[in-house]
Amino acid sequence: MTERLYYEDSFLHSFPAHVVDIREGSRAGGVSTWQIALDRTAFYPTSGGQPCDTGLLTATSRNGAILEIPIEAVEEEETQNGSRIWHIAAKPLQTGTAVHGLIDWPRRLDHIQQHSGQHLLSAVFARELDAQTISFHLGEFVSTIDLTSGAIAHHSLERIERTANEIIAEDRPVSVRIVERSEAERLLAEGRLRKLPERDSPIRLIEIADCDLNACGGTHVRSTGQIGSVLIRGTERVSRGLRVEFVSGLRAVNAARHDFELLARAAAALSIGRDDVPGAVERMQTESKAAAKERQKLREELATYHATRLAIEEMIHDNLRLIRRNFADRDREYVRLLASKVCSIVPRTVALFVCEETDPARILLACSRDMNLNCGEFLRSALAEHGLRGGGSTDLSQGEAAKDEAEKIAASMAGTLRSMLSRPHTGE
Ligand SMILES: [Zn+2]
Repeated sequence: MTERLYYEDSFLHSFPAHVVDIREGSRAGGVSTWQIALDRTAFYPTSGGQPCDTGLLTATSRNGAILEIPIEAVEEEETQNGSRIWHIAAKPLQTGTAVHGLIDWPRRLDHIQQHSGQHLLSAVFARELDAQTISFHLGEFVSTIDLTSGAIAHHSLERIERTANEIIAEDRPVSVRIVERSEAERLLAEGRLRKLPERDSPIRLIEIADCDLNACGGTHVRSTGQIGSVLIRGTERVSRGLRVEFVSGLRAVNAARHDFELLARAAAALSIGRDDVPGAVERMQTESKAAAKERQKLREELATYHATRLAIEEMIHDNLRLIRRNFADRDREYVRLLASKVCSIVPRTVALFVCEETDPARILLACSRDMNLNCGEFLRSALAEHGLRGGGSTDLSQGEAAKDEAEKIAASMAGTLRSMLSRPHTGE
């Protein structure tokens, strides 16, 4: 059983210990990782939603050489004789070696702030909204709490955040004590303890004065002031309830700084003050919607004129007006609109257009109502001959072909259409 020094002191980040066991972890590509067990450790293993510590073990050899072993991960293993903490490293150490452990302190402090911030937020959510915490995840950038709750109004979230920050400013003591299970059960029955883990062993309780009592094996602040601040970043509905995203401590400052930079950049791009950004964006959105509407109206008008010009350019021969065009600089939507327009304004018309704006190119086939042609079926079978797919309605169909093939396919389709649909004058 490994003695967990962080149970007593979350702020201990340097400690002496001895290697009591070592085993080969995994071997990938001929490279082994090693799992090192110490008699005592301040390294926190991944558990309870909190990631592990990383750091360094240092040993001195008999000839005085210093050996440094980076610790990349820390895991705990439950055994029949208790639990053991394994320090994962790329280099081995001999059993019995005296080592000095050093924890990556900025990482630990960050975890302490996020984790303690969670205790505080969970307590305030429970007290103010009767929303209980189901789970907690401490992520690389943000942390989340899953609550038994439906959607929470923005002003309620603001109130919870403000209350939590007031408790931080009051710098209330955060204490740790170990009690027997019977005592913990009594506290649970009195409603003072939020919940109780299933293990029989003595229970470690974390108390934020006049705010929260919680059974937890994690690392915590000594007083709420060390949390620094909490900032709720958003909520999201999840199957079990509501997920609240938040950051604490320096992460809250970093998040606020990041948001500030974004806002400042937006303000600079618009040459306005930061406070004016939301109003300006709303105005721009309204203008942009109106402009899009106007643009659509103009496209429709343009397509009508364009269609009229095509109808004039392409006369009826043998009772058929077959309009074949390639468009390299018009979008598909416009070419489709143009095909429909021209077939709706003049009779005996078939429009066979290729839109080459993208690759694959789009082939469009449309016909006026008085033509005895099913555009969908014709295009489907014409493209199928080339192993391609397409189709549509009787009046309008479309399919795709590689840019360098589309022209050839369209020319061959035009030949077939002409022989199918032309009605040469016989002179009778
Ligand atoms: Zn905790």
